[in-house]
Amino acid sequence: MAWDFSTEPEFEDKLQWMRQFCKEEIEPLEVLGLEYDTLVKVVKPMQEIVKQKGLFAAHLSEDLGGQGFGQLKLGLMHEILGRCHISPLVFGNNAPDSGNAELIAIGINETGREDQREKWLNPLLSGQKHSGFSMTEPEVAGSDPKLIRTRAIKDGDEWVINGHKWFTTNGSIADFLVVMAVTNPDVHPYQGCSMILVPADTPGVKIIRDVPTMGEPHVEFGNFGGHSEITYTDVRVPVENLIGFEGHGFRLAQERLGPGRIHHAMRWIGQANRAFDILCEQSLSRFMHESYLAEKQTVQNWIAESYAELTAAKLMTLQAAWKMDTYGNKASRLDISAIKFYGAKVLFNVIDRAIQACGALGFSSDLPLEAMYRYARAARIYDGADEVHKVTVARQVLKNYERKDVLTEYGPLRRQAAEEKFKDILLELT
Ligand SMILES: Cc1cc2nc3c(=O)[nH]c(=O)nc-3n(C[C@H](O)[C@H](O)[C@H](O)COP(=O)(O)OP(=O)(O)OC[C@H]3O[C@@H](n4cnc5c(N)ncnc54)[C@H](O)[C@@H]3O)c2cc1C
Repeated sequence: MAWDFSTEPEFEDKLQWMRQFCKEEIEPLEVLGLEYDTLVKVVKPMQEIVKQKGLFAAHLSEDLGGQGFGQLKLGLMHEILGRCHISPLVFGNNAPDSGNAELIAIGINETGREDQREKWLNPLLSGQKHSGFSMTEPEVAGSDPKLIRTRAIKDGDEWVINGHKWFTTNGSIADFLVVMAVTNPDVHPYQGCSMILVPADTPGVKIIRDVPTMGEPHVEFGNFGGHSEITYTDVRVPVENLIGFEGHGFRLAQERLGPGRIHHAMRWIGQANRAFDILCEQSLSRFMHESYLAEKQTVQNWIAESYAELTAAKLMTLQAAWKMDTYGNKASRLDISAIKFYGAKVLFNVIDRAIQACGALGFSSDLPLEAMYRYARAARIYDGADEVHKVTVARQVLKNYERKDVLTEYGPLRRQAAEEKFKDILLELT
């Protein structure tokens, strides 16, 4: 199988522009600690520039009304955006808005419900509205989504939703929420769950809090990136708010998560590259015991291992992206799961080494490393915990093998077979 990760020179020009724009215009905002409302105003003119460049909300495929960059190009873009947590907002493809837009677009494509484009999709793509994806529930394991308890019952021309969710990212700033609920408890959950659009100000929607996390231990309610706990009590929305067809919730989730994981993994590489830059700069700059850190073998090992891991993670992710573009989501499941846990580990390793090389400074908030480290820990949990993806990889890999009474490589058997195969020549020679 030949792989091709090359992109045309015109696209490389776009990437080069993005690198410069993110570094010079967006990254300086990081250190100002702006409130969400102020941040939104400050980035507005930047979003206009990105729109003029044709790079805003570029994630949808052509058949869904997007620019059809494909996952490989999107991956390369996300590597650049991953350096700074504000960049995806400026480029209109921050999670979960980008994934939710994709869900709604797929739903419109399947059902032909064009009314949803004007009402939900376009405001999301233009950055006018923000959304949350409300699936995980505190009472049951998110790793086993068959256990979802939130119920939506059809009552006349309305859905009535009851349930308890948490970790709905951006829930407290969202204009609307995509809620995963059981709509038919009589069939297997994979056929009985649906996604429903719920305006955040619908009576019965209660955003209880933004959960304090390792990322934001002293979280303030209503900031970008908060993870909300939400109760839905007799929440009524029109039946037209269903995304796609009833019972297609899990199918839609699978469609959405594949590309999302490529984008996550490439953003992690962007983030880890930044930590790697700090590691290298510090190694050349810090002097002790008669030499610079860069001259000490342990630190050289850190640099070499980080370089190799980053290169491997990037190539694995680009290969997965290329496979998705070439063969589709389903054929790329193994590769997507592999990069999900491998990329999260590389991100963590590189940041950890950079912190160690910087000593107390690395532990302090004077460098971005400590925040990166806290956020990186979550990468092993969200979008499927490491263990879940390892199960997928192992299962897919094992499909290529079969159970044996005696292992294929068992020497005595191989010898017996070889003796049989070459018996004539062996007889002749001996
Ligand atoms: C920063 C962040 C943002 C998030 N954003 C969203 C969001 O926007 N919307 C949303 O709905 N959810 C969101 N989540 C929730 C996330 O999807 C869940 O945390 C995740 O699916 C795991 O579910 P859980 O937390 O219930 O852990 P559980 O399912 O209870 O799992 C606990 C642990 O069990 C282990 N485990 C699981 N399966 C296996 C296995 N087969 N073998 C061995 N061990 C196993 C894993 O180590 C796992 O961490 C977010 C989470 C985080 C941390």
